[in-house]
Amino acid sequence: MSIFDKLESQVRSYSRGWPVVFNKAQGSWLYAEDGTPYLDFFAGAGALNYGHNNPVLKQALLDYIASDNVVHSLDMHTVAKRDFLQALDEILLRPRDLHYKVTFPGPGGANAVEAALKLARKVTGKEAVINFTNAFHGMTLGALSVTGNSMKRGGAGIPLVHATPMPYDQYFDGSYPDFLMFERMLDDSGSGLNEPAAVIVETVQGEGGINAAALDWLRKLDEVCKKREILLIVDDVQMGCGRTGPFFSFEDAGIKPDMVCLSKSISGYGLPMALTLIRPDLDVWAPGEHNGTFRGISPAFVTAAEALRTFWTDDTLEKATRANGERIGTVLSEIAGERGDLGLVAKGRGMARGLEFPDGETADKVCAAAFERGMLMETSGPDGEVVKLLPPLTLTDAELEQGMGIIKESVVAALR
Ligand SMILES: *Cc1c(COP(=O)(O)O)cnc(C)c1O
Repeated sequence: MSIFDKLESQVRSYSRGWPVVFNKAQGSWLYAEDGTPYLDFFAGAGALNYGHNNPVLKQALLDYIASDNVVHSLDMHTVAKRDFLQALDEILLRPRDLHYKVTFPGPGGANAVEAALKLARKVTGKEAVINFTNAFHGMTLGALSVTGNSMKRGGAGIPLVHATPMPYDQYFDGSYPDFLMFERMLDDSGSGLNEPAAVIVETVQGEGGINAAALDWLRKLDEVCKKREILLIVDDVQMGCGRTGPFFSFEDAGIKPDMVCLSKSISGYGLPMALTLIRPDLDVWAPGEHNGTFRGISPAFVTAAEALRTFWTDDTLEKATRANGERIGTVLSEIAGERGDLGLVAKGRGMARGLEFPDGETADKVCAAAFERGMLMETSGPDGEVVKLLPPLTLTDAELEQGMGIIKESVVAALR
């Protein structure tokens, strides 16, 4: 019996689908200890948008550590944090005319979400929050309360309250006008809906099944919120950092949310780091009112700043992501077309793509077939029915084509 089976809790999950032991990672590849290479179309669930161990980021990290610079610093000022904040301001915020202050909420995506929800409630004095069907915002209690998945919600063990789900884009397959229910309930004093402090939304629902909201839908949501002074929180933990093309996934819609949650790929290197960006006038925190031991992981600041300088000072990566995303979408549509009998659906935007199967069992089989062929990809959606493709944005054309080939073969093998 392996030490994992013997000692590690049943709660482990990814390791079940990929029962090997990894000991090397480079670019788009993970290697098992026996040397078997795996093309990584999972990319740390979106935490490795720039691939594994990018050499430029690695050098910055090695130099930082070699000079005995500060590793842990709570929220003290460090050179690493100054450098990161300057890069964020100069490379991301100012060119986009975005005005945010930065909260460092603790190292994970759920921390960023908890900070946003807490602040929205503090600012407005209201406790209700609107979330969307099939949303995923993290596993802590506040974040779970705005998450859709019943299995994940069930783990809370206490009632998850103060959140009301509304239909996400296409929840009724277009048979009702967008926001019909939400606006009716907001405006009807008999609806029973508590006045919301905020709406929290993903522009593309990653865990929820790669559901991409239309840009028009996002703009309309922004309008609905503005009209009624409801704060709009975009959870860009998975779809930010270039996953859909632009750095922020909401840029294509032309909206400016009141708060933005970032984590996963923000450090650029797979190191823990998260940010909650807030409109400056919402910055009503008292010093220390929101806190945490790991809010200043300087090695993550170093690679994060280097990642901004490496990938976001021109539009090379953004263009490549859009083009590669189109290519993946085309192949997935071809596969869906070939199996029209099964009702497969190609989904997504940018390099967040998915192929929906009739059930989770089939999607699992496709992922298992891909693993046998040397490729990692996971499932998502309420019943795990969507095969989810989240390759590093930096993958080469050859790697992309190799991956597409493996997916085609895996679908054939799984449906045989
Ligand atoms: C992964 C994810 C989270 C939670 O991040 P953790 O680091 O796992 O806490 C929150 N929101 C979205 C959209 C995510 O994809």
